[in-house]
Amino acid sequence: MGSMSSDIFVNRLRDAIGQDHVVADPDLMNSYRTDRTTTVEGDMPRVVTTPTTATQVATVVKLANEFKVPVIPQGALSGLAGGADPISGSVVINVAKMNAILDIDHVNLLATVEPGVINRSLKDAVAKEGFFYPPDPGSYSFCSIGGNIATNAGGLCCVKYGVTADYVSQLEIVSPTGEMMVLGRKTKKSSAGYRLAQLFVGSEGTLGVVTKATMRLRHAPAPVAGTVVASFSSLEEMGDALREIASKLSPSLLEVMDRETVLAINSWRNLGIDEEAEAIIVAQSDVKGGEGTEELKLIEAICATSGSGEIYRTEDPEEADALLEARRLALTALERLGPAILDDVGVPVSRIGEMISKIAEISRNYEIRVGTFGHGGDGNLHPTLVLPSRSPDVLKLAERCFADIVTAALSMGGTISGEHGVGLIKREFMKDQYGPLEIEWMRKIKSVLDPNGLFNPNKIVFGDQLV
Ligand SMILES: Cc1cc2nc3c(=O)[nH]c(=O)nc-3n(C[C@H](O)[C@H](O)[C@H](O)COP(=O)(O)OP(=O)(O)OC[C@H]3O[C@@H](n4cnc5c(N)ncnc54)[C@H](O)[C@@H]3O)c2cc1C
Repeated sequence: MGSMSSDIFVNRLRDAIGQDHVVADPDLMNSYRTDRTTTVEGDMPRVVTTPTTATQVATVVKLANEFKVPVIPQGALSGLAGGADPISGSVVINVAKMNAILDIDHVNLLATVEPGVINRSLKDAVAKEGFFYPPDPGSYSFCSIGGNIATNAGGLCCVKYGVTADYVSQLEIVSPTGEMMVLGRKTKKSSAGYRLAQLFVGSEGTLGVVTKATMRLRHAPAPVAGTVVASFSSLEEMGDALREIASKLSPSLLEVMDRETVLAINSWRNLGIDEEAEAIIVAQSDVKGGEGTEELKLIEAICATSGSGEIYRTEDPEEADALLEARRLALTALERLGPAILDDVGVPVSRIGEMISKIAEISRNYEIRVGTFGHGGDGNLHPTLVLPSRSPDVLKLAERCFADIVTAALSMGGTISGEHGVGLIKREFMKDQYGPLEIEWMRKIKSVLDPNGLFNPNKIVFGDQLV
């Protein structure tokens, strides 16, 4: 890679933040072109920057404003909505190298980190000091805290402990015009003014770059008392069980997988999960003082009353880990069977059985295989279309099948995205979830904070094509 380019913007970047933090070689830039979404691809950006300090981020943003270059913030590129995919002519700000854990505050229960810290590294670091950072996306070993904040990531623990939004205390950000700012307070409570740090949660890189984050911690819970696996021969019965559990108990994990998903997992890593069942529930409890086992017994009783054919409980942590690993690998297991399109919809927990049945009906209508799994206790499902091929006819049909699933979730009072975000793949559905006035407010907020319209300009509802 030569140090000089004919591109003045790129040369100014090199002068300002150093050659080591600027990537302009197309072969090298290629690896920054797309996240983990299978249905969309990013364009080749004009240049990629890999800053290691907030000051460097601010410098890049200021130059981008001077040259009116679109800015694409990136974390670990594990996103599943195309949110971090560049547009052509843009400058990528990839903060993966800003990955230091700066402070763990034992009294105020806070951890301050740089945005590129991997979720699991934070979890492990605070666990060593007796604390718990709950949000745990299935991608926790390779996604970043900055990306988690920008997508309001969820995960397996969220049924009891909440999502990333619940753990954001204070954010240092670089605004779309290049100012460094601190949003939010490190106090437990604050009633003073708008909660601007929360505005950044789920903003998918459209409102600036998170350069430092102070996240709330909890004291470590009791070790998981055990794991219950219950099989159901009817989706309605499984839905009944989830409703009962949600209304009476507070399990630390409550996941669901349908038969298609179980078949995919078993065919890859034979774990002997019941293949006859229409769906299975996996539940855990971490209540202190031996009461976890009691909670698990109540879950077993509810599942039995709701019609579960087979209920299995294990106290063996290794077996539990294997089951959870299987659940975490559900997407990869389905992807092995053919081109896969992952969806992410949320419905009120009370309607989850109905939603899974509806997905099965849509799958039959289109004759497209759909494996459904997800965070049952949160009403958040990941129906995954597995296609026979990528032929244009099949893709067209898949698009309609995907849209029908999203529409079904909305008709049940649900959301077009439970945790992956809107990015590129859900933009067209925003107008179905929100009224025109809400969309207008979102656009007004965006245009006040980002007057030059540079930050991730084609994401969520801000692309010209959606006006
Ligand atoms: C196998 C697998 C399982 C997954 N399981 C889950 C799950 O259970 N729950 C879940 O919620 N997600 C899950 N995901 C999706 C993904 O891991 C999350 O969306 C994650 O939060 C993205 O983090 P990232 O660091 O990779 O962000 P990226 O993909 O790099 O970016 C995501 C978005 O955040 C923005 N962004 C990133 N960093 C910053 C920053 N510092 N400042 C401002 N904006 C920023 C980007 O512009 C983009 O819009 C899964 C993904 C995979 C591949």
